[in-house]
Amino acid sequence: MTTIEDTTIPAGEPWARVLQPGELLRIVDLQGKQAVDFLCYNAKDSAERYNAADTMKYAKTIFLTTGHGLYSDMGRRLFTIVADTCGRHDTIGGCCSAESNEFRYGVKDTPSCRANFLRALAPFGLGKKDVVANVNFFMNVPVEPDGTMGIVDGRSKAGDYVELRAEMEVLAVISNCPQTHNPCNGFNPTPIRVVLSAP
Ligand SMILES: [Zn+2]
Repeated sequence: MTTIEDTTIPAGEPWARVLQPGELLRIVDLQGKQAVDFLCYNAKDSAERYNAADTMKYAKTIFLTTGHGLYSDMGRRLFTIVADTCGRHDTIGGCCSAESNEFRYGVKDTPSCRANFLRALAPFGLGKKDVVANVNFFMNVPVEPDGTMGIVDGRSKAGDYVELRAEMEVLAVISNCPQTHNPCNGFNPTPIRVVLSAP
């Protein structure tokens, strides 16, 4: 494999790129306990995009790991998870927004993953209507037997990573979550690293 990008994403910042089929995207949680909000689209037709519900149905679990696909709303794999040293990611919590932070925590005008997604999608001609339910790598959202869900401390340790193989030409979008009002980032957002490699 040849490394074609190796980028450290500062705490709270977004990243986006189009990947070719077969390329590998490794997302490294450099310091641990850092949620990484992630969306992906068919780069040639962005109307086809990640579908959280179908991805969970096909995996038969809400907890994705190695071997599972990230599926589009057309029943096709956008990515396959080919490595996962953490083993706990979230499919149901979605992204934070200034609006939801105000609703939940009574704070105004906070930085958010929704704003990051919009900033990262704009150069690709995408906007508010294109931000759909996303996957959150390294975020821990357990569901209790009675249905109670929560956002609790992530399980990732420094250096844990997930690696995704692109299964078509895909637009991948990351928000390195800036949330400081719940434990998803250990109340301390930190940098992550993305390494893109090609066969
Ligand atoms: Zn967030």
